[in-house]
Amino acid sequence: MGPRNVPLERENPDLLASPYTDSGTIPNLKFSFATARNRLITGGWAREVTVRELPVATELAGVNMRLKPGGIREMHWHKEAEWGFVLAGRCRITAIDELGRSFVDDVGAGDLWNFPSVIPHSIQGLEQGVEFLLVFDNGSFSENETFLLTDLFAHTPRDVLAKNFGVAEAAFAHIPVDVEHERYIFAGQVPGPIAADVVQSGGGIVPHTFSHHMMAQEPIRAPGGWVRITDSTNFPAASTIAAALVNIEPGAMREIHWHVTDEWQYYIAGRGRMTVFASGGKARTFNFQAGDVGAVPHGMSHYVENLGDEPLRYLEMFRANRFMDVSLNQWMGLTPPELVQAHLNLDAQTMAALRKDKPIIVASRR
Ligand code: MN
Ligand code: MN
Repeated sequence: MGPRNVPLERENPDLLASPYTDSGTIPNLKFSFATARNRLITGGWAREVTVRELPVATELAGVNMRLKPGGIREMHWHKEAEWGFVLAGRCRITAIDELGRSFVDDVGAGDLWNFPSVIPHSIQGLEQGVEFLLVFDNGSFSENETFLLTDLFAHTPRDVLAKNFGVAEAAFAHIPVDVEHERYIFAGQVPGPIAADVVQSGGGIVPHTFSHHMMAQEPIRAPGGWVRITDSTNFPAASTIAAALVNIEPGAMREIHWHVTDEWQYYIAGRGRMTVFASGGKARTFNFQAGDVGAVPHGMSHYVENLGDEPLRYLEMFRANRFMDVSLNQWMGLTPPELVQAHLNLDAQTMAALRKDKPIIVASRR
C-alpha cells in the first residue's frame, strides 16, 4: 500500500519474497557498480566497490574503468597487486620490474593482466577505447590513493628534481600543478604500432609476463556450461589473486560448494541468484545481473543459478595463490553411503546419483 521502488524490487525478487529456506541475519553480500560513485574525467571514467561499499569484502576490492581512444590511466603504482580483465575494446599496458626489466603488451576482451605489488605501470586505450575490471588484493584499496607520477613531481622540491635528473631546475617549470596535483585519467593520442613502443632495456623483459590470454585457455567443460581457471599454476605473475571465469547455460547451476578464502564476484552477463548458507540456521538469497558485485565469506556454501534466457557469466575471484573449492556432491559421494544415509534418509536412486568427481556446473533437470 505504501511507496515502493519498483525497478529495484524487480531486480531483487529473492529479497522481496525470499525462498522459504532463507532464515536469520546475514550481512549484505551484494553491491552494484551502478550505485557506486562514478568519477567522470576527460579521458574516461572509473568507479569502485571496496570495503566501504561492501563491508563484508575485506580481502579484495574492484574498480570498473573506461578509457576513451588514446585515454591514459596515469603512470602510477600502489601497494596492492592489480589483476585486470578486459571487458571490451583494447588497451596497451606497460610496466617495469625492480630489476629494470621491461614489459609492454596490447590486450583485448577476455585478456587479463597482473601487476605485482608496487610494480609501476600504465594503461592506455587503443583505437576503439577500452573498458576493464580491476581487482586488488586488499578490500581497503582505493583507486583514489595510488602513487601518481604527476603527484610525486608536484610534491618534490624543484631543486631536488633537478638534482635527481641531472638537469636545470627550469626544466620543471611546466609540470602540471593543478588543484588535485594529478592527472589520474586524461585524454591522449592513440599510440602507434606496439613495435614502436618497445623501449629496449639492458635487463631484458620481465621473466614472467604480466599479461595472459584467459579465453585462449582450454575450458573445463560441464553439461551446464564451462569454467576457465587462471591462477599461479598457469599464470605465474598472479601470485596473490586467483580467478575462475564461469559460464552457466540457461537453467543450469554452479553446484553447491565453498572455498578456503573469501570470494569476490563480478557479473558480466545474464541474470541469476545465489543463496549463501552461513551455518547456525542462517541463509540468504541474492539476485545478480551484469555490473553487480557479489561476496561470499570463506567457508560459507553457495550455488549460483542461471534464471535467465541467456548464459550467465561471472568471475569468481580470490586472494589466493591457487583456485580451490569443495564440492558438496563429491563429499557425499566419497563418504560411506550408510553414513550419508543415516543423516538424510535419501532413497537408493538419489544415493546412486552421488558423484565421485566434481560436477562444477550442473545442467537443468528439465
Ligand atoms: Mn594500477
Ligand atoms: Mn564459489
